[in-house]
Amino acid sequence: MIRPVLFHFFLILFWFQCSSVGFAQTPGREQESVFQVVERNREAIALLGDNIFYFAELGMQEIESSRLMTEILEEAGFTVERGLSGMPPAFMATYGSGKPVISIHTEFDSTPGNSQTPSLTDHTPLVEGAPGHAEGHNVNAAVMIGAAFAVKTILEEYQLEGTLKIFGAPAEEQLISRPYFVRDGHFDDVDIVFHPHIGSDFQTQYGLRQYALISAKFHFQGESAHGAVSPWKGRDALDAAELMDLGFDKFREHLEPTQRSHRVITSGGVQPNVIPDNATIWWFFRESTAEKVSAIFERAKEIAQGAALMTQTTFTVEIMSAVWPSRANQTAAEVIQKNIEQVGMPKWSLEEQRLARELQIKREVDPVGLVTQTSSLSGPSRQSTSANDSGDLTWLVPTGRLTFPSNIPGIAAHHWAAGVAPATSLAHKGAVAGAKVLAASVMDFFTDAQLLSKAKATFKEEIAGIEFKSLLPADQQPPLNLNQEIMDRFRPLLRKDYLEEKPRFR
Ligand SMILES: [Zn+2]
Repeated sequence: MIRPVLFHFFLILFWFQCSSVGFAQTPGREQESVFQVVERNREAIALLGDNIFYFAELGMQEIESSRLMTEILEEAGFTVERGLSGMPPAFMATYGSGKPVISIHTEFDSTPGNSQTPSLTDHTPLVEGAPGHAEGHNVNAAVMIGAAFAVKTILEEYQLEGTLKIFGAPAEEQLISRPYFVRDGHFDDVDIVFHPHIGSDFQTQYGLRQYALISAKFHFQGESAHGAVSPWKGRDALDAAELMDLGFDKFREHLEPTQRSHRVITSGGVQPNVIPDNATIWWFFRESTAEKVSAIFERAKEIAQGAALMTQTTFTVEIMSAVWPSRANQTAAEVIQKNIEQVGMPKWSLEEQRLARELQIKREVDPVGLVTQTSSLSGPSRQSTSANDSGDLTWLVPTGRLTFPSNIPGIAAHHWAAGVAPATSLAHKGAVAGAKVLAASVMDFFTDAQLLSKAKATFKEEIAGIEFKSLLPADQQPPLNLNQEIMDRFRPLLRKDYLEEKPRFR
């Protein structure tokens, strides 16, 4: 039994903690109501994530996924703009009017060659060689739509003022869409944004989270010739691509250890006796700041110039995308954290824990099973070397980033094993918990103007006068044919596994 004095002490402590984010810990009527709406849509949220899992669409080809999401939003009363910023799968869905304007955005693309049958812990592709959801972005979409539906329902029910904007952001894996949304002004009137992403933890962070990245293809042009009869007539574009690669490796020694850069040669000839007259080497340059990554990119262009001189070829540079490092706002993180604690970790079944351990054992990682405790919020996050195309946006609008628990700890993304969980009951439970936290956090900002002012004030301090300037060239267009050939090949084969049952939100 707690003694009365001690009890009062805890009560004061409790009040003090709650007042630090400006409202009571007990959920208000709007919070309670959003939880109820998410709860009654458990099945729809699960089905939406699963439908998108089986579409398994690569970046910029997320046509079926986008269609399903926009149909749901339209039916729910949102005004939908498709083909946002000229990208067919991109969309913006708006509900309500006036201030504040609160946004949720997320990605929903798959990864190449990662096809996997859910729940099976050995490599069992649905379609051999096909793309698969090996980062669980299918669940991101389910969480976003689940939360959007709940928030919209409550805004309507309580006749609340404000606008909810939902963004479907294609091709995250190639860092494409959100820098273009920013450039086209789609976030100009937005007061605060939220970005849900799958993980194995239930957590949020603030501070600098990820890296800056420039994605660029270097296309070398040479002259083809018979490799045996008249090689002296040829100018080998593949040689140029290889020399650029070698040159960059020499340059690497003199770079700060913070950099991360990697490449693939996406074309380099057809057969050995025809000297390749064109070759393409595609680079991702990464550094901790926009300034540092720009400096690396400038040197890479000089290295390409050197490779072209050595091989008497020419080259062009095609920038695919360029983003600033992503960051998150402390006030938004505190609100998300409060809601994570309110909702709590899903209760995993023995079967879900067994699946997790079995996969962990087979993948030779710690067989710890699923995470059972929510994470605490402590200090600014450690900057990860990964990147996300929402980076630019996070320097313009305060951003809340939510990681929800729908995956298995220790299983790295972009490997078929990361596709075992995202269409199973454990992913469904994590998605429902994530949608509740996301919806409640959005509602907190719709119902508390002071909280929004606080987020804006802390955001101003956080960016400390750093002025955002897009790394994208002004006339840059998004690469719309990205992954088209691969999807044209695999889509007909993937169709056999499409789910017949479609989600119904109510
Ligand atoms: Zn991701």
